[in-house]
Amino acid sequence: MVGFPSILEGIKDLKKGHILQLLERAEDLKSGSPARLPLQKSLAVATSFLEHSTRTKHSFAMAIKRLQGFHIDFQAENSSLKKGESLEQTLLTLHYQGIDICIIRTKQSHLLDEFKEHPPIKIINGGDGSNQHPTQALLDLYTLSEQFGGVESLKGKTVAIVGDCRHSRVTHSLMDLLPQFGINVILSGPKEFIPQNIEDETNKFQVSNDIDETIKMSDALYLLRIQSERHTKGFEDTLTSYKDSWGIDFEKLRKNEKSLPIYHPGPANIGVEVSQEIVDSEIWMAHEQVRNSVYMRMAIIEAMITNEDQKIGSIYNKVPGDICAGNSRLNTK
Ligand code: ASP
Repeated sequence: MVGFPSILEGIKDLKKGHILQLLERAEDLKSGSPARLPLQKSLAVATSFLEHSTRTKHSFAMAIKRLQGFHIDFQAENSSLKKGESLEQTLLTLHYQGIDICIIRTKQSHLLDEFKEHPPIKIINGGDGSNQHPTQALLDLYTLSEQFGGVESLKGKTVAIVGDCRHSRVTHSLMDLLPQFGINVILSGPKEFIPQNIEDETNKFQVSNDIDETIKMSDALYLLRIQSERHTKGFEDTLTSYKDSWGIDFEKLRKNEKSLPIYHPGPANIGVEVSQEIVDSEIWMAHEQVRNSVYMRMAIIEAMITNEDQKIGSIYNKVPGDICAGNSRLNTK
């Protein structure tokens, strides 16, 4: 896709037109459309997950396979990163070995910022700390649009993100994405789980600390796991009292006379933020999100591989000749 970024760090890297094309393309791929990749070369993609993952890593692996690409799972633990090599040099190595795209997940937020100006390789963010998880948000938008009869039908609908919004990278990506399509977003949870400085954005987001009010106002709920690994201090509530106040079960839905689809990026802690009964029911959309994740990630890989960006690799390939001429490493004659 011409103009598609070579580093997809967050939703803000994409124009609305890119997102609409991704939604369309994911739908085509789901209906069996063949891959659209450059003919001259086979696709090679590496995943480098420096934090645990089940869904994201394997759905990328499936997407690569369905695009008839070659997948390398780069093991950072056994790599020269452990000998002190920088991430940039590691990525350059992958690039010169012929890898087209590297999908990276890191514990640290904003780790990819430094590569944006001179991409050593094309990169898709598979989740960085509590910052962004753009591919998750895009597949969520796709699943929502499928459920509600197209992206246009989402205009005016209300989606409540319930739980640990503050520490969730998925929430931050959804906050950047959903309002672009006219979706009202409610951030709902205990006060300590609401993002900081949200007061500055009250024109864009509604905040609710009351689950009954949230359920009544919503057309869909998007539940989150408590992100304990990202908490700097312990969670004040116990899991049992969290479940009682915030866990979604049929009793709370009935009390508010609501039946609505329930989304979750996974992994879900069943018995905490959601009941087993809901997970076993038809309103649980998480399996559909997982199914759709493969098609949306195929569409994203395709879009990046065909963006016609030639400026990938070492900085020495990108600077004008006169600067190179002054470089002693090149003056070997
Ligand atoms: N799988 C999502 C993520 O990587 C959500 C989560 O872990 O709770 O951010």
